Order: sequence, then structure tokens, then C-alpha cells
Amino acid sequence: MRVIRYDELADYIASGKDFILELGEQNGIGSSSLLVQICGKLFLLDRGSAFEGTGVNKHTLFPVGDVLEGIHIDAIFLSHVHLDHAGYIPPVVLAHPEARFVLSSKTLEELKITLEDTLNIQIKEADKAHYLGLPEPTILFTEEQVSMFLNETDSYEIVDTDNEDVCLTWDDFPGWKFGFTSSGHIKGAFWSFIVTPDNDCITSTGDICSHDQENKKGVLMPNEIFLKKMGFGTWRRTILITEATNGNRDRKESWEDMDSRMKAEIEATFDRGGMVLCPVFMIGKGPNIVAKLARMGFRVFVAGGVRKTIFTEIEPMLLEKWMADKTVMLAIDGPGRKQQMDAVLAGEYGPMVIVCSSATLDQGASTGFAIRMLPMRKNLLISTGHRFTGSKMEEVFKVQDQPLELGRTIVFESIDRFGNIVKTPVNFRCGAIHCDNSSHDYREGLVARAIALNASMVLVKHCTEEGFQGFESGLKEALGDKCPSITHVVHMQVINLV
Ligand SMILES: [Zn+2]
Repeated sequence: MRVIRYDELADYIASGKDFILELGEQNGIGSSSLLVQICGKLFLLDRGSAFEGTGVNKHTLFPVGDVLEGIHIDAIFLSHVHLDHAGYIPPVVLAHPEARFVLSSKTLEELKITLEDTLNIQIKEADKAHYLGLPEPTILFTEEQVSMFLNETDSYEIVDTDNEDVCLTWDDFPGWKFGFTSSGHIKGAFWSFIVTPDNDCITSTGDICSHDQENKKGVLMPNEIFLKKMGFGTWRRTILITEATNGNRDRKESWEDMDSRMKAEIEATFDRGGMVLCPVFMIGKGPNIVAKLARMGFRVFVAGGVRKTIFTEIEPMLLEKWMADKTVMLAIDGPGRKQQMDAVLAGEYGPMVIVCSSATLDQGASTGFAIRMLPMRKNLLISTGHRFTGSKMEEVFKVQDQPLELGRTIVFESIDRFGNIVKTPVNFRCGAIHCDNSSHDYREGLVARAIALNASMVLVKHCTEEGFQGFESGLKEALGDKCPSITHVVHMQVINLV
């Protein structure tokens, strides 16, 4: 194992050796983009982007190598739509017409939403830089590239892994087999299998989850018929590439207990005349929480990007029913928006849970609601996911336990239309609870899967050092002497598959 520079990569590929190399993940969980060379073919698994910094100081971080110009890629697999996996997919796919490109129909549907969002953010960033007299920010991709990417879909291999497992063979890959099955993480997320002519299996989970979520069934192992078709049990080697976001965490609270705690807190908030704010990521988590709240019998006000993603992720009939009986109400986009927000917060529509992006409270619709809701004692803030280091959401939970007399002020930052940074100090007085609705496996699931697959080599990526160590010790504890080699895949470190 050694760390290489990007300009050494071409020689490495030309050597024909079997290896894997992570081009992203500069700091732990970041942009995911893995190269796998095996049996003379080169695969690219995901091409994401990540954010560094917080609030108005956020900037985008990419995997190295831009569009990987001059490198012949045989196939590109996109595991799911989250930005850290898909954020830089369009330009790379456009730059590699020689590569087969596999993604799920749901991922493609949601890419249309997230790419539009990325283009809008780019325009705002460019305006901001212009007003502030800063250099133009790097353009991720243009509107033209996005429409070209979305028009090329006839040449893509589109699988529907939410509804069926898919086994593929291709004429130009004699002796190879490819399999795609749901990973249980979010709608459209798949877990891929590559079986080489030498009968080695390289299997990459992407983001994976074995517990059930509101609108996605968890997956510990694929179904037996699929595994049999792929030749499971006959493989010479099974090389497992897995994430370990929660590798150092066991679930502390049962799902039932957490849901009843959440329900009781919301009811108590409504009893004292308060409102509930639930900031979420628009993909996956947003629709999941809307469905959970509706099932619990609460009325939900949906703002920000979640207004779009609920239409792709929630059963249309169910959503239609919720909209008709006013269980779900959507924020107006455009004139009347402010008046509607005032009415919602004044309780004119009755007690409601407000679900909106973004989960970090650094930007998006949730910031506007937070500024108005956090100062009132009667309200409640619910965090449902990972509290990212440096985010406003993390800050909220840090100051929560401070005595009131010391002051619990949080300063929200935004940019006005003249490019000035506007600081809004908010006196944080409302209640705040954390309900862990993670869509990633905990240690137990990660370990159980590696054992069930009988992996001969385990490669762990998309995790912090602690996440890796937690998973590693869990697997060693479970398997003792029989534990396969387990390696933390880090940025630009070549791992030879021998
Ligand atoms: Zn994900």
C-alpha cells in the first residue's frame, strides 16, 4: 500500500495490476469516487462532491482528477443520488462515451431535481462572488452539460433495483457478470456485484442499511435467487468494499422507543401551543420523516427542496390522500410565501410539524424558520440525522445545556442581495431533541453482512478513523483467527488486490 500522486495514476493503470484507489475522501467522509482495476478492466464507482466549511464559508471539494481525461474507463456505476456520490457524475459521464454507465431509474429521476438545485446554487454563488468582488467560483458544470447528460439516457443501463434484482452480461465483457440489488439506504440506492472471468467477486455496498425505514426496506443480504444467479458460494475470492459511517456506533434506543419519545415530545409541544421544526436533507430523510409524522397522525408543513422529493419518494396515491385531507401542506414558492409562513407560525392552520431542508441549519428554508422559532420557549427543534461537525445544528446542541443566564445565542449568517453578510443573532430558548433516524447501518449490521458474505478481503471506506476502528474490532471480535484482512481505504492510497 502506498500513497500516489494523481500524475502517477496512468502508469499504475498501464501496469495492468489489479488494484483499487480512492480518488475522493480527502477528510474521512467526503466525496466518494473509487477506481477498481481488475482482470484488465477499469471501473469507476461513483463520482461525488463534498462540502468543506460551514455557513457562508462553505466551498465544494472534489475528488482528484476532474473528468479523468485521458483515462479509458470501461464502466461507471452510480450507487445513489446523494451529492457525495453523484455530485460530479454528469461531466465525467459526458467525458467518457467509451464507458458503460449504470444507474437506477429512481436515481435518474432524483438527479433531475438535485442537478437543477446545484445549478441554482451555482448561480447564487457566482452572484455572491460578484457582489463581494471575489474571484468567480469554480463552475461544477453548465446547464448545457446537464441537459446533454439527461438527454443521453438511451445509452445508459438503467436498472430498477427498488423493484427487481438485476443480473447483466455484456457482449464486450466476455466471461463477466454484473449484479445490482437494493442497498436499503434510500430509494434507488444499489449494491453492486462484479464477477470477473477468473470468478473473483468485487462487491461494493455503496451506502447501506439493514434496518427498515419509513419508505425503504432494509437489506442485510440480497435475496438467495439473486445470489445464486451471481454464483455466490463458488467465487474464488470475495472482495467486499463497504461503507462504515456508523462503524463505531451501536444503536442505543429501539426504533419503537425512539418513535414514541418523538411522538410524546411533539404532543407536549402542541399542548403548550408551540410548533415543531424538523430540518432534514431533502433526499431520503425528508420524505421519510414526512411519512413517519403522517403515520403518527401529525399534520406536516413541507418547505424547501423536500416539496419536490416527496413526489418522487412517497407513493403517489398516499401523498394525494394526505394533500387532500390536509395532513401534508406545501409551502408556496413565490409571491405569498412570507404571508403563508406568518400564518403557519401564528398557528392559523393549527399545530403543525415543519419539515424543511437543510438539516445542517446552515442554509435553505430551515434557517428562516429557525430564526423565528428558536427564541420561543414553547417550540421544539428535532434533529433526525447526523449532526455535522461545524454545522449550526451541532452548535444548537452544544449550547443547549448552557444555563439560560449565560445566554444561548446562535448567530445565523446569510448573504443579502447586495452581497453583504447578514448576521442574525438568535436567542435559542426552545426545546431541542435528537432522534437518530440514520439511513446507514450500525456496527452490528456491518459486521453481520461481512460474515454472511464470507468475505476474503474487506475494504472499508466512507468513514472516519473511529468508524473504521469500531467496525474492525467488531469483525475481529466476531471471527477471531478466521477474520479476513480488513483495510481502511483512504485518499490516493493504492491497495493491490493480490
Ligand atoms: Zn448516501
